[in-house]
This record gives sequence, C-alpha cells and structure tokens, in this order.
Amino acid sequence: MNDDGLTIWLTGLSGAGKSTIATLLASRLIERGAAVEILDGDEVRTNLSAGLGFSKEDRDTNIRRIGYVANLLTRNGVHVIVAAISPYRAVREEVREKIGRFLEVYVECPIDVLADRDVKGLYRKALAGQLDHFTGVSDPYEAPQRPDVRVNSSAETVEESVAKVLIAIDDLGQPDLATGTDG
Ligand code: ADP
Repeated sequence: MNDDGLTIWLTGLSGAGKSTIATLLASRLIERGAAVEILDGDEVRTNLSAGLGFSKEDRDTNIRRIGYVANLLTRNGVHVIVAAISPYRAVREEVREKIGRFLEVYVECPIDVLADRDVKGLYRKALAGQLDHFTGVSDPYEAPQRPDVRVNSSAETVEESVAKVLIAIDDLGQPDLATGTDG
C-alpha cells in the first residue's frame, strides 16, 4: 500500500450526488487498503463550521476550514474525500495549491433534474423565490473550467461516476492502489 495521501474534492450543486458518490468511492478505496476520511459539507457545517452562514465570506471560510483539515490528513497518508458545494472558484484553487495532491471532481447535474429530485425540498422553495442564498438558483455557482474529473449524475450511474474517479486516482501513479489487494 502506497503511503501517499490525496484529497479528492467533489464540487457541485446541492443534490447533484456528491455525498452518494463519496460514500461509494470511500468503500472502493477502503477495499484497496487506503485510509479514508469523508468531509461532508452538511456534517462540517454542524461541527467545524457551526455558526457560519451562506454569504460569500462565510462560504469561503467554510471551504478554507475544510481545506485545512484535508491538508493535515492528506500529508499523513489519508485519502480525504470532500463533498461540499464549494461554489467559488478562487477558494477552490487556493486549497488545491495548499494541498498539492488534489483531484477536483465536478459533479454535474442539470438544474431541472435537481428540481425533480429535490431531495431536501429546497429547489421548490428556491425556484418559487422563497429561499435566498440557494446555490444555483439564488446564489452563484462557479463551475470548474478544467476539473480533473467530470461526472454527470443525470447521465451515469453512481458506479460509473466512481469508476471515473478511480481511473483518475490510478493515473496519478499509485501502483498499489491500482492493483488492489485481492488479486
Ligand atoms: P449532494 O451531496 O450533492 O447534495 P446527495 O448525494 O446527497 O447530493 O443526493 C443525490 C441524490 O441523487 C441521492 O438521492 C441519490 O440517490 C440520487 N442519485 C440518482 N442518480 C445518481 C447518480 N448517478 N449519482 C449520484 N446520485 C444519484
């Protein structure tokens, strides 16, 4: 097992599939013998970032905190999977540069599919003008221009999306992870 850690940063709109993909990806990496942590946006906001709101300043602070923890773990050999909307490009770039071993994964999904899914009932409210600061409807989302991996949860299964991420991880040159442990 290779000791190099890595941050795999999933960005995309609410309901796009970040947490779902993170969970399956974590299982696949654990099967390969990696140490894995998931930093999920919702969970971070109830712990590490409790009290922060949804202004640009607070959102950037939230991302810097996640980036700080991801960096500590990554440099200690952990595969960190971040599942957070992370709507602003500049702060995503900032954490990428700090961490170094970093893959940006853009989890895409068209807004009409998200509104149909409406996992938390928030799109309906936001589209009806009843919810301020809702990313993609009443707040900005700056999509990655050159993500390392692009997945689309309206066009692929979770398995297919995870497979794309695993290929990108393998391409970074981790022969032990690429081979797996059950050969
Ligand atoms: P996010 O973390 O981006 O807010 P979630 O993973 O919590 O999104 O929710 C995504 C929802 O979409 C889940 O209910 C999941 O079952 C569903 N879904 C349907 N197809 C896919 C897919 N191909 N990839 C990921 N999620 C999918």
